Amino acid sequence: MDSENPQHHQLHGFFFPLMAYGHMIPMFDIARMFAARGVKATIITTPANACTFENAIERDRLLGLDINIQILPFPTEEVGLPEGCENLNDVDVLDTIHAFFKALNMLQQPLEQLFEDYQPDFIVADMLLHWATESAGKFSIPRFVFHGTNMFWHCVEHCLDCYKPFEDITSDTETFVVPGLPDKIEMTRSQVPEHFKVETVFNEMVQQIKDSEIKSYGVLVNSFYELEPAYADYYRNVMGRRAWQIGPVSLRNKNPVDKAQRGKQSAVDEHYVLNWLDSKEPNSVLYISFGSTSRMNNAQLLEIALALEEQNFAFVWVIRTTKNSVESSFLPECFEEKMKGKGLIIKEWAPQVLILEHPSIGGFMTHCGWNSTLEGVCAGVPMITWPLFAEQLHNENLVTQVLKTGIRVGTQKWNLWFETEDVSAKKDEIEKAINQLMGDGEEAKEMRSKAKELGGLARKAVEVGGSSYTEFTSLLEELQIYRKPLT
Ligand code: UDP
Repeated sequence: MDSENPQHHQLHGFFFPLMAYGHMIPMFDIARMFAARGVKATIITTPANACTFENAIERDRLLGLDINIQILPFPTEEVGLPEGCENLNDVDVLDTIHAFFKALNMLQQPLEQLFEDYQPDFIVADMLLHWATESAGKFSIPRFVFHGTNMFWHCVEHCLDCYKPFEDITSDTETFVVPGLPDKIEMTRSQVPEHFKVETVFNEMVQQIKDSEIKSYGVLVNSFYELEPAYADYYRNVMGRRAWQIGPVSLRNKNPVDKAQRGKQSAVDEHYVLNWLDSKEPNSVLYISFGSTSRMNNAQLLEIALALEEQNFAFVWVIRTTKNSVESSFLPECFEEKMKGKGLIIKEWAPQVLILEHPSIGGFMTHCGWNSTLEGVCAGVPMITWPLFAEQLHNENLVTQVLKTGIRVGTQKWNLWFETEDVSAKKDEIEKAINQLMGDGEEAKEMRSKAKELGGLARKAVEVGGSSYTEFTSLLEELQIYRKPLT
C-alpha cells in the first residue's frame, strides 16, 4: 500500500453518495478502491443507510484497509418525510421527492462541521449534493463529482444543451442527429429529457448541478477509456473539463461474498442460484432485471411473463412490482410451476454481479441503469435494452449505436419517474427480441463477439498498468501533491 511509503502522507478522503442503491453501490466500491491504495476512506451516510455498508466495511477492516463510516442524521421530521425514509427507493410518490431533496440540502451544514472536525484532504460527493463544491471550497480541499454515469452521457447532454437540435422538430417520433458528437447519434424529441424542452421544477437544480461540476476539481467516472475513447477525448478536449475514468468499479469485488452482498439483502441464497445456473449450458440463460429502483406495472409484467412462456431460452427474472400490487397476481396461472427448470424468478433483489458473471448467462435484458449496463459489459454479454427513466435512454443509445452490443425494446420516451404506467412493449415484441439476441443469427453472433471483446478490455483496464488503474494512480499522485502541508 502507498501508505507504507514514508514519502507519502496518508490521504484522508470523504465519500458522500446519494442515498439510492444505484449511487451508493458504485461510490462504495470507489471508496474501497481508495482505501486499498492506502487512503483513509470515510463514507458519509445516514442512519438507515449505514447497514448497506457495515458488513463489507468490517471485512475490509479485517484485511487492514483504513475505511470507516460517518453517520449524519437525515432531517426527515423537519421536512415532513416518514420516519426512516432516507433512501430514494423509499420515496414512492413523486411529490415526496421535493421533501427528500430539501432534507438532502439540509446536510450541507453538518457536512461542513465534519470538514471542520476531521480536515479531510478531498471529497467525492454525488452530483445531487451540488453544494459540496462550495463547502469544499470553504476548506480549500478538492471536490470531485460522481454522477454515476459515463462520458457518452456527459457529451450528449452537453451537445443537446449547446445546439438544441430538438427545437426545430415538431414531431415526437421523427429522428434527428445530435450535432457535434464524434459519432452519428440519432434521437427523437420524445427521448430528450423534459428539462431541455420546458421549464420544470427541476431546472434550477439541473443548473446548480452543472455549475457545481464546472467549479469542481473534476469528475470521477465509472467507465474505462477503451469503452468510449472518442467521448472521453471530447469531454476533455472539446468541453475542456477534467475527468478520471477509474472503472469498472464493480470489478474491484473479487471474492464471492463481496460480489453477492452489494446493496440490499438478496431474496435468494446465492448458492441456490449458482447451482441452478451450473445446470445450464454456457451462454444459454437470459438474465432479466430492471435495477434497484424501477417498478413495472402488472400489465407490463404480464406481457413479459407471456413472452417468457413462449420463447425457448432459460431465464432468471428479477421481479419488482409496484408497491401497492398484490404479489404474483399478475403472473399467468401456474406460471412459476410451469417454468420450473426453465426459469428462475427472484423477487425484489438478486446477487446481480454474481449472476451476470456466471458462464451460463448469454444475454441481459436491462433497464440500462449505468451500473447494470457496465456490469453487463464486464460480463461480456449482449443486451436487450429497455430504458425506463432518467439517463437510461442515453445509455441505450451508447449500447445500440456506439458499442453495437444490444437490441432495443420498450419505450422511446424520456421519463422522470421510476414507476411505469403504460405498457411499452407487448409480448410479441419482447419474444422477438429474446429470440434475436439469444439465437444463432449473424447479428447475434456479431454482438456476442463484440460484447466478449469489451468484457476483456474492461478487465484489462483495471489491472495494474491498465488504463483505469493508471488514471487512478495519477489521481492519487496529484492528490498527494495538492494536499495542504501539515500545520
Ligand atoms: N442490483 C443488484 N440486485 C438487484 C438489482 C440491482 O445487485 O436485484 C444492483 C446492480 O448490480 C447495480 C445497482 O444495483 O449495481 C443498480 O444500479 P443501476 O445504475 O443499474 O440502476 P438503478 O437501480 O440506479 O436504476
